[in-house]
Amino acid sequence: MRLTELIGQPKAVNLLQRALAGGRLAHAYLLAGPDGVGKATAARAVAAALLCREEIGSAPCGACPGCLQFASGNHPDFLHIRPDGAVIKIDQVRELKKALAFPPLEARLRVTLLEEVHTMRREAANSLLKLLEEPPPDNLLLLTTDEAEPLLPTIFSRCQVIPFSPLSLEVSAAILLKMHPGLDQEGARTLAGLAGGSPGRTRDLDHAALLQLHRDILTGLLAGHAGEADRVVTALGLAARVAKNEGLETLLDLLRLFFKDTMIAATCSRGQSHDRGPHHLVQILSRARERWNLQELSDSIQTIDFAQQALARNCNRQMVCDVLFLRLLAETPQQQATRTG
Ligand SMILES: [Zn+2]
Repeated sequence: MRLTELIGQPKAVNLLQRALAGGRLAHAYLLAGPDGVGKATAARAVAAALLCREEIGSAPCGACPGCLQFASGNHPDFLHIRPDGAVIKIDQVRELKKALAFPPLEARLRVTLLEEVHTMRREAANSLLKLLEEPPPDNLLLLTTDEAEPLLPTIFSRCQVIPFSPLSLEVSAAILLKMHPGLDQEGARTLAGLAGGSPGRTRDLDHAALLQLHRDILTGLLAGHAGEADRVVTALGLAARVAKNEGLETLLDLLRLFFKDTMIAATCSRGQSHDRGPHHLVQILSRARERWNLQELSDSIQTIDFAQQALARNCNRQMVCDVLFLRLLAETPQQQATRTG
């Protein structure tokens, strides 16, 4: 992928292209912005351009040995570090330092992509800081972070910061269409709405199954239930499917977003329509506004927060989902009143 093919980040692309074309590279760049908007993709495009053996500026030729090695994931002068579990560990930074002490093997410059540096604890961050303070020659570090508030502000000051922006619904949908060839326009717009401006989040997910499950969850939440037994069966059925889904975390994020969007829609001045995505999502939001009052929406968001915290503590997925959906589908006092007359 070339830098110029990155969609929706003209400012970042411009800054990186100027640095590449002018041959005036800093030792380290920090690509900063929301999750899933193209930071790592841009970093890989920069690496591809630098590891190409043809001198053609900011775009790789795609055919030389350097390009072919990079494309196959085997370039010896490209190092890629991601969080091991939830964090980048001190040992990973120590290993990196050792590797960078040697000159590059084949290219003029070694490129290291260090993703999600905001996950580092203090010890690892301090170790990285030392590396940034005394950068070994012939090395370029590309760091990415999701957080505006860094653990160590000094890391920001040692890097040239390249800002990435959140993406609009249209731009997200265009990116999703490129990412998932099987998706149609309507599906792309829906998925874009669900992904909340972070198409990259959907990368490793079975998007068709995810879309279907998300649709079923909303239907289950908004449906009228024949009685308590019906409600419990629906809740436990959804919980079982969600607990098994590899995109569980994303699903909970999306569900949280749904309740938040409903709250925003409910507090916006009435009659004012705002672009919340495709027509059927707008309809769902308006039904959701009738179903829950502000307090109930806020309670549901809190319920999801509790579930996410429990999952982060490695609690049993099935149990967490059972409790979550039983609570989310619980009868509201308003419904109780309607039922009992
Ligand atoms: Zn090349």
